[in-house]
Amino acid sequence: MTGHLAVVGLGPSDARYLTPEAGAALADAQSLYGYAAYLDRVPVRADQRRHASDNREERARAAEALKDAAAGGRVALVSGGDPGVFAMAAAVCEEIERGPQNWRALDLTVIPGITAMLAVSAKIGAPLGHDFCALSLSDNLKPWTLIERRLDAAAGAGFVIALYNPVSRARPWQLGKALERLRRHLPPATPVVFGRAVGRTEENVSVVTLDEANATAADMATLIIIGSRDTRVVLRAGKTPLVYTPRAAVEVNA
Ligand code: SAH
Repeated sequence: MTGHLAVVGLGPSDARYLTPEAGAALADAQSLYGYAAYLDRVPVRADQRRHASDNREERARAAEALKDAAAGGRVALVSGGDPGVFAMAAAVCEEIERGPQNWRALDLTVIPGITAMLAVSAKIGAPLGHDFCALSLSDNLKPWTLIERRLDAAAGAGFVIALYNPVSRARPWQLGKALERLRRHLPPATPVVFGRAVGRTEENVSVVTLDEANATAADMATLIIIGSRDTRVVLRAGKTPLVYTPRAAVEVNA
């Protein structure tokens, strides 16, 4: 008899964004693992054990949850947003790949959640309405030179770019550098969306041009969407502007 591990996406904020499937997986768990700030979003039940860990201990947290499930527990490991987007599902797969054989026999489910770029996009219109990509600006697990190469390729190929992990206390300069890099490829008027703490009381979504975009406008809870050459801003009297990327595109160099 082996236990069960559910890697659960909580969405960007509160229960409004939690899918019924995720809610059911949380209710079904005997023990809950996760970064403390995410676990705090899960309603407390006296019969469930909580194992809160620090944000940076992803590997150890995945291994703990797997050990618990392998011992027969019904375990939920939570992530903000979607667990497959710069989050715990990949950490769990890495541990299963290098861990003991019996971890491969575990009953594992990954339950999707609304990822930050979709929540931000929905607040402002449809900036991801045509081809786009997502990049983490964190150079904790990859070299900065690779990030620059991917920014060049993405902007050069006409993708709208969603930037996760734009800054942190340990990574103060990366966003400024990234914006400088993007200005080499994109016109100064390219729309840039800063979506901060979407779905929470301190939510703030703003639109500026790439020319005006300032790295100090972002923090750890900010997701940035860099438009493509096709992305448009529709001004509306008395309302926030709409930012969208039309469904059709033409070959730039044709
Ligand atoms: N798995 C998460 C992403 C984890 S990386 C997801 O799918 O959303 C953490 C980054 O996600 C943050 O630095 C920020 O860029 C973004 N983020 C998470 N929650 C957010 C929110 N409520 N509003 C805006 N950005 C958010």
